[in-house]
This record gives sequence, structure tokens and C-alpha cells, in this order.
Amino acid sequence: MKILVLNSGSSSLKFKLYTMPQKELLVQGLIERIGEESSQIHLSLEGTVRESSETIRDHRHALEILEKALPRFGILSSFEELGGVGHRVVHGGEAFTSPTIIDAAVRSTIEALIPLAPLHNPANLMGIDAFAALAPKVPQVAVFDTAFHQSMPSEAYRYAVPESWYREHQVRRYGFHGTSHFYVSRELARLKNSPQERLNCITLHLGNGASICAVRGGKSIETSMGLTPLEGLVMGTRSGDIDPGVHYYIHRTTGKSPKEIDEILNRQSGLKGIAGSNDMREIQRRMEQGNESAKLAFDLFIHRLRKYVGAYAVLLGRLDALVFTGGIGEHSAPVRQALCDGLAVLGIGLDSTANDAARTDARPIHAADSRSELWVIPTDEEGVIAEESYRLVADRRKDSPSLTPLA
Ligand code: ADP
Repeated sequence: MKILVLNSGSSSLKFKLYTMPQKELLVQGLIERIGEESSQIHLSLEGTVRESSETIRDHRHALEILEKALPRFGILSSFEELGGVGHRVVHGGEAFTSPTIIDAAVRSTIEALIPLAPLHNPANLMGIDAFAALAPKVPQVAVFDTAFHQSMPSEAYRYAVPESWYREHQVRRYGFHGTSHFYVSRELARLKNSPQERLNCITLHLGNGASICAVRGGKSIETSMGLTPLEGLVMGTRSGDIDPGVHYYIHRTTGKSPKEIDEILNRQSGLKGIAGSNDMREIQRRMEQGNESAKLAFDLFIHRLRKYVGAYAVLLGRLDALVFTGGIGEHSAPVRQALCDGLAVLGIGLDSTANDAARTDARPIHAADSRSELWVIPTDEEGVIAEESYRLVADRRKDSPSLTPLA
């Protein structure tokens, strides 16, 4: 069965097409600058990349172009041939604790959650609606970034703010990157050949956005992102934790509006705010040349991360492993080294040779006498979305073969 995975942004559409259950990747690509004069199309299959540009009006138009392009590669003659399509949906609020087939009720719940994710959920819905318009019979599945963290206990997910903020406005911590934290914690159990129920680990998803998660027995018990992805670690362009009093202070002293301040904290802060670049490679390069602001950005990033690792180790009580993933987690040996240099109090020791090895596969990097294991595990969010979509679609076929999803 062929499953298409879509990650739909406000002006972009990323996709991967798989044969399931083998999880064989047939083609992947990205359509960018949708709605602008010149949209870019990148398709990559069997190691070759094809790029083109044309005007693409909207997400539906982008999908039409994709549907026309696929038969030329002999992959699919039309979307009707798909067994299902899986969407990354950013915010599932408290409504969704696991992936789900999208019917009219699910669609309207995702819509009702827009106030919690005003940029992401509308973009995700554009992808869902565009696909439904083109291939209404193909079942669609939503896989939520927040769902994995719905297992957090209330003392982890509630903020100490008036009860009414929670009851009336859903103000609580949700967490994001759930699909990635889920995947790498499951992979860890598989690679170690130990039952997930007995493993305690901390997963570090360090990309442009970054979050950390404490996973006990396969369940998230705490994570660093909150109501929005702004809370927690220092990120590429996000501040992570700051005193909430800073908002009002900056408003009073500069006259900036809450919206402007929110944008600055999301887009002009983090590594970029301190060192002018959100690219960790660039920060590392400049740091080697003695650049002070690059060093400060790197140190802030590591310091925050170390505080969280310490706190999560205490919450878990027993720490079997720490898992690095995401662009920085998978590729930056200096970040892993700097973090682990400060974890001796936990009995954690890195094997520097394994850490420095130029490898891209999943691998252990701990010293033989380390109390907890250290692993690098490349994340695969799209693979999980494909698996979950396949599972739900296959189950549904067994139950009610004739139902139409968004009818
Ligand atoms: P996103 O969150 O956008 O998916 P990624 O997971 O791709 O981002 O991570 C992007 C980050 O990974 C950037 O800060 C980039 O500099 C960093 N990165 C990628 N490769 C390396 C590397 N070899 N060394 C250090 N940082 C790297």
C-alpha cells in the first residue's frame, strides 16, 4: 500500500511517499514559496534531485502539480491509488492523545484548536482540505506533535496561574516534537533490545526548534515546550525560558506591542539574538575563530540544556540513557561533548572517539564506565506518520471497508 506523508506549512508543502508496510521511501520533495510569483519545486528520488520553478497559487495547486509529476516517474498514476495520506498536525490540544483518521468532526476540532496554534493549524488544514478536494475517497490521518506528551501528569502540565485560565482558555503545557521523542525512545528500546516499559530515558531533539523530554516506560512525563513552542531550551531563533515579566517590561520601556514582542522572542532571539546566526555550524565556526558572541550563544545553549538534563534525571529517578537527535543532536559532536563534560555528577561519561566519528547512523557514544548510556539516533518523524497512517487505514478497512473519510 502506498502512503503519502504531508507536512503542510503556510507557504510550503513537504512530502514523502512510501510503500507500506516495508516503509520503503519512493520519492520525497518540497514545494516552497506557494502563493508567490515563483514557487520552487524540489523532488528527490533514488539519489537524484530535480528542481523547477513555476507559479503555484495555493496548496491545492501544489498538490495538483505533484499528482501530475508522479506518473512521469512511474510511481503513481493518480492520488486515488494511495492507501492513505498522513498529515503532521502541530496542535492536538487535549482532544487528541494519538493519531486519528480525519473525519468531519476531527477536522472541526483541529480548526477549533487554531487559537492555540494560529500559524500552524491553519496551514495543516490547508493541506488536509486541498487533498480532500482532489481525492475525497482516500482516507486521511492526522498525527499530532502534541499527542505523545498527553501522558504528562498534571503537576508537569499545569502552570501555576489562575484556574480559570486553564478551564476557560486551555492555558497549560502541551509540548511539541512528540513524534520525534516517541520515535527515538522507541528506537532506543529496539536497538538495546530491551522492553520499552522498563526503560527511562531523556530524549533531546535539538534542531532549529529544540525540546527535551523525560520518557518513563515509553511515556512522556515531562517536556520543555509549553502552551507554545517558545518555552524551554535556547533555540535557533526562540528565546526559550525567560522571566514572563520581561514582556511587560519591554512593552513599558520600548512601547512595543505584545504581538511585536512575541515575534521578537520567536524569530529574533535564541542563537540568532545573541550571535546573529541561527545556524549552529556557523556559531561553531565563529567560536573557533575566537568570536565572543558566538561563544556566549553556544554556552547559553549548553547551560540551559544541562540544567534540563539534571532536572529530568531527578524526575526520572533512574536514567538508563540520553538520546540525541535533530540536526544539532545528530551532527554536532562539539555540542554533545560540551553538554556531557558537565554531567559527571550523574556518572555520565562520553566516549570522545565514538562521539567524533563521522557517522550518520544510530549509534552509542558512551564510555564503557558511564552510568547511563548515550546514543545518537537520527529521527524519522515522517516514517512514524507513515506507519501510523498505514496502521489506522488497514484497521479501518477491516472494520468498515466502504466508509468515506471526510464525508
Ligand atoms: P529543523 O528544526 O528546522 O528541522 P534541523 O533538525 O534540520 O532543523 O536542525 C537544524 C540545525 O542543525 C541548525 O542549527 C544547523 O546548524 C544544525 N546542524 C546541521 N548539521 C550540523 C553539523 N554538522 N554541525 C552542527 N550543527 C549542525
